[in-house]
Amino acid sequence: MSDELLPHPVTRQPFPSPVPPGAGWPGDPATSHTPVARDAAGVAELAGRAADVGELDAEISVCRACPRLVAWREEVARVGKRASFVNQPYWGRPGPGFGDPDASVLVVGLAPAANGTNRTGRMFTGDRSGDWLYAALHRTGYASQPTSVAAGDGLVLTGLRIVASVRCAPPANKPTPAERDTCGAWLDRDLALAAPRLRALLALGSIAWDATLGSARRLGWTVPRPKPRFTHGAETVLTTSGGRTIRLLGSYHVSQQNTFTGKLTEPMLDAVIGRLRD
Ligand code: SF4
Repeated sequence: MSDELLPHPVTRQPFPSPVPPGAGWPGDPATSHTPVARDAAGVAELAGRAADVGELDAEISVCRACPRLVAWREEVARVGKRASFVNQPYWGRPGPGFGDPDASVLVVGLAPAANGTNRTGRMFTGDRSGDWLYAALHRTGYASQPTSVAAGDGLVLTGLRIVASVRCAPPANKPTPAERDTCGAWLDRDLALAAPRLRALLALGSIAWDATLGSARRLGWTVPRPKPRFTHGAETVLTTSGGRTIRLLGSYHVSQQNTFTGKLTEPMLDAVIGRLRD
């Protein structure tokens, strides 16, 4: 293990995020001994050897590899809170995966929202996008309740896990290509760990679609050529290096931009999620 990857020495150098690992935040997968990736090489090294999703989620949740995103997520958490949440503590760290560690279905999102996951510490939790997604997952039998308000609210996902292309809230919801590439190593590992039982992937939006195809290629999976095009309801089949076939479906993202305008309706989302069980 290189010095960069040594467990953070909290006694000599406090973890600078608003919520240090091990501080008692509900669902925090990390401890003060979780190793911290500080650059792209660190992400690749830690992700590549994460033995299970618990270890992976812990390491994601303390990652500091992208300086611009680390600065943004922590600034929002400290001084950029939305007025309606100004008295609440913010997570201010990357969003770890959430859901069933033995899932046969993975949902791949874009990136955390500054006042959603970056506030609550759980994927798609505490914002309108999450209201839509979890209501649909409840209607289709994957979620134990239709709302996801805060980590520790009792929500349980069965058979499905939610991950993302980028795990830190980006300014203007736009990660740079370099940030996407760096964070892609975490997604690669999520797919690799899930692969033995994975039946289907759902990409929310074109960025998640492309990120998933990129991860599949890096893992040596077979991706159809020409590259499958993203659209709502798109479907293609990926084949793992072990010969298992995995369906990749696409849905418009559950962002307000789509749900408020009617581009994505509840029946449209339910129909795609329902196909994950086929
Ligand atoms: Fe780490 Fe990903 Fe956040 Fe970059 S975006 S700091 S790689 S978790």
